[in-house]
Amino acid sequence: METLKPLWHKDIPLKVVLFGWRLFRDRLPTKDNLIRCGVIAVEERLCVGGCGMLETSSHLLLHCRTFGEVWHFIHNWLGVCSVLPNAPADHFLQFNSIGGNCFKVWMSILHLIWYATIWEIWKEINNMLFNDKECSIPQIMNKIKSLTFYVVEGEVYYSSFQLPCLVALVHLQC
Ligand SMILES: [Zn+2]
Repeated sequence: METLKPLWHKDIPLKVVLFGWRLFRDRLPTKDNLIRCGVIAVEERLCVGGCGMLETSSHLLLHCRTFGEVWHFIHNWLGVCSVLPNAPADHFLQFNSIGGNCFKVWMSILHLIWYATIWEIWKEINNMLFNDKECSIPQIMNKIKSLTFYVVEGEVYYSSFQLPCLVALVHLQC
């Protein structure tokens, strides 16, 4: 993935798009990368979430039982079942094709939700690490929903929605 084009979305701040780009290129300051660069010692390799696993970007943002659990709630919210792929880039493609690729508006909303989710998970990780603060999963979900719909509301997207999950999505904004 050499360019930002597949990641670009007009309603997503550039800093968040760049975060996604760094995630795809495995350039986030996760412990595996910090060890590779000699910033921290190998003994510090375990996940900040306290799950006992090696901390990688894929682990933190998708598979960690502490932070990755958010995806379970996201899938429930959207009314879909999904197995998380190992690589974040694969997850991005999989997530954005939920329900098929027939509705551009739906794909646009999925794009927003995906970014809102990885961004809120990353902020939560940093809050835990640097501010010693923790949010519950419902609190994180509320942040993701408000972030998504804050962006979406200005676009008057809802009127032509047909899929049941989209209807559920609209109801869930309140
Ligand atoms: Zn973990």
